[in-house]
Amino acid sequence: MRPGPAAIALAAIFAAGSAAPQSTRGPDEPLFRSIYKELVEINTTESGGDTAIAANAMAKRLLDAGLPADDVKVLSSGPRKGNLVARLRGTGAKKPVLLVAHMDVVEAKREDWDFDPFTLQEVDGYFRARGSIDDKAMASIFVANLIRYKSEGWRPDRDIILALTSDEELSDSAHDGMRWLLENHRALIDAEFAINEGGAGTLRDGKPVSANIQLAEKVYRSFRFEVKDPGGHSAQPRRDNAITKLAEGLVRLANFEFPARLNPVTGAWLKIITRLEGPEVKAAVEALGAGDNRPGTIRALATRPAWNLAIRTTCVATMLDAGHAENAMAQTARATVNCRLLPDESPDYVLATLKQVVADGKINVIPLGTVVDSPASPMSPLVMQAVEEISADMWPGVPVIPTQSGGYTDSRWLRKSGVPSYGVSGLFSEEGKSGVHGLNEQVGVKELFDSKEFLYRLVKRLGS
Ligand SMILES: [Zn+2]
Repeated sequence: MRPGPAAIALAAIFAAGSAAPQSTRGPDEPLFRSIYKELVEINTTESGGDTAIAANAMAKRLLDAGLPADDVKVLSSGPRKGNLVARLRGTGAKKPVLLVAHMDVVEAKREDWDFDPFTLQEVDGYFRARGSIDDKAMASIFVANLIRYKSEGWRPDRDIILALTSDEELSDSAHDGMRWLLENHRALIDAEFAINEGGAGTLRDGKPVSANIQLAEKVYRSFRFEVKDPGGHSAQPRRDNAITKLAEGLVRLANFEFPARLNPVTGAWLKIITRLEGPEVKAAVEALGAGDNRPGTIRALATRPAWNLAIRTTCVATMLDAGHAENAMAQTARATVNCRLLPDESPDYVLATLKQVVADGKINVIPLGTVVDSPASPMSPLVMQAVEEISADMWPGVPVIPTQSGGYTDSRWLRKSGVPSYGVSGLFSEEGKSGVHGLNEQVGVKELFDSKEFLYRLVKRLGS
């Protein structure tokens, strides 16, 4: 996951915090390093990888540490598609907490990278490899921390459940691990709330400037705009041909904006990141918070793309396909329109609105793929206070910022099924330089150990 675009503005607002002086490597540094290396070096790409091998390797680590076999399960939805579910038993006084990380990684081609993506290297204070952040950092940390709790003899007030999943990076996979676990093994992972990826920290020139906690995600939904037409000879054109009709509809779409509004997450986020802005922005945030979304009132917000995407559902044409011959009018013209819905926006409303915007019986608007409606998670005082206090201790002066992601994580399935999910990792990286989903993925060694310590303390506090 990438940190939000808010971070740049933040650097101007807050003096960069100072990192905690004490070492965060912990007594289990060698064990953690070996778990991290093992997991990162198991290829878990869709093309040639196998998440079942990764799930079994992590299961063995937990069994070797003394977790009972009944509490460590590898569950496969198909060949090469494994998920791990493990449970550290508590007293049962409270409902369990679920720790989530995905084991699959985005494809990586050796010839494109400066180094072998599937060999973990430590160079100049960085760990480098595909998955060194996304999401094998959190996955290895959770495994190592569970082992550390076990060796300490810690008996939490609630069960600590770990779910390591498959196929998070594929948008519509039949083997999406979190979806599959919820549909087939819900009782094994049922929890009061979950901790997942999606909220990272941002460094600027090596100094932490914001610690994000992700509480909401926009919802991904694509549509096909399609025009069918008898076509005909291009020497005898008609103005209402398929391509022109489609183009007119797309221009109407480009000129349309869904109504803007705030939810508790974006309201809290804007309040923090616009602190140093002028009176126009402040007035716009206040007006929108009070439900006034007239274009003139909120112009100062809506004209910045990074803010605009947070306050409304957006749709944009992303692909075009039309015609069959240079000398004939098209019989079919199609556009793919990709929308990102606000977390509580109704997909039916979006479809109806698009039809209305296009307002042309010739353009058929067809929804594509599955929609995972996923409401924002409430700002639980238990989780928020724990995150704020541990962050304040580890990174004094660095603000904890609630965020709504433009993209999605496994949290979408959990939120949809009623399990509030919090994207928080304490894992800091330089904005745009981590290589997540791109080339030469890397994470600072110190930052990785800080994240391990942060999550160790967070889970211990939430579980007590
Ligand atoms: Zn991820």
